[in-house]
Amino acid sequence: AKDQGKNSYQYYTHDMQTAAIKRMTLLNDLRYAVKNKELFIEYQPIACFSSQKVMKAEALLRWQHPTKGRITPDEFIPLAEESGLIIDISNWVFNEVCANIKQWKAENRQELQVSINTSPSHYFNLESNITQWLNLLLDQKISARSILLEVTENLLMEANEMVSKKLFQFRQAGVDIALDDFGTGYSSISYLKRFPTDFIKIDRSFVKSMTDVSNDKVQCEAIIVMAKKLGIKVVAEGVETQEQYDILRSMGCDYAQGYLIAEPLSKTDFEAFWQKH
Ligand code: C2E
Ligand code: CA
Ligand code: CA
Ligand code: CA
Repeated sequence: AKDQGKNSYQYYTHDMQTAAIKRMTLLNDLRYAVKNKELFIEYQPIACFSSQKVMKAEALLRWQHPTKGRITPDEFIPLAEESGLIIDISNWVFNEVCANIKQWKAENRQELQVSINTSPSHYFNLESNITQWLNLLLDQKISARSILLEVTENLLMEANEMVSKKLFQFRQAGVDIALDDFGTGYSSISYLKRFPTDFIKIDRSFVKSMTDVSNDKVQCEAIIVMAKKLGIKVVAEGVETQEQYDILRSMGCDYAQGYLIAEPLSKTDFEAFWQKH
């Protein structure tokens, strides 16, 4: 029994070592990904329930690794956050989105609000780029209204005065703030009063439970009713079926995002989709 214990301990440390090496290798690769232009953005259309038109799009980061193929953000964003690399990456995303918005404006396309995911370190880092981002908008003559920043409850949970100051700075400049993955945390509701929130995005697990075996519509409905009372707009995430879409519409939800409308699309495909809808 003792031997076995020793053995499994060895396997355990071996696995941990392998995992650590894998992470380090990936992190190293990620450092070059920005420079090597391996990162790009896909846009997922967000449709308005009342006008049925594409009014917004979420910018979703993609990494095409030269040998390993596509690596999902759920794999590399946490690495980027732990290593601090997320600051450079977020700056790249922000710049890229601004360049695209500028191009779309020059092409006289319809107005669109682009939603950008932000990470906690962005708000906690003293050197972070809030003023840099706001200056970029000014320099490029991009209306602050074309940007929507998504924050997660993780951020608000640990939020101190600096974080809320930065959020209010964005808000004051005219940038909208959305609370992402709403409802998955422990005290989502209390944040709505303490932080500036223009939109909440209902997490897709709630949308799913409306029509799966649990057939549970209570949560979505409660979130929508509450948001309306607070003057906050609601985006439902992960809308995959017509049934979900119809229920959400009847509940008074404002916007829908999900595979039913469209998957995240390359910039070119998104432009074509947007033109049609
Ligand atoms: P998220 O912000 O909750 O983004 C929505 C995720 O749901 C995306 O996954 C999207 O592709 C997926 N999705 C959209 N519609 C549907 C649907 O109908 N059904 C299902 N099952 N999934 C749907 P993705 O692109 O893999 O991104 C995962 C997460 O990575 C994001 O979750 C976000 O937290 C993070 N992320 C992505 N881009 C960035 C970025 O530029 N910066 C930061 N900090 N995080 C990012
Ligand atoms: Ca998001
Ligand atoms: Ca989300
Ligand atoms: Ca998420």
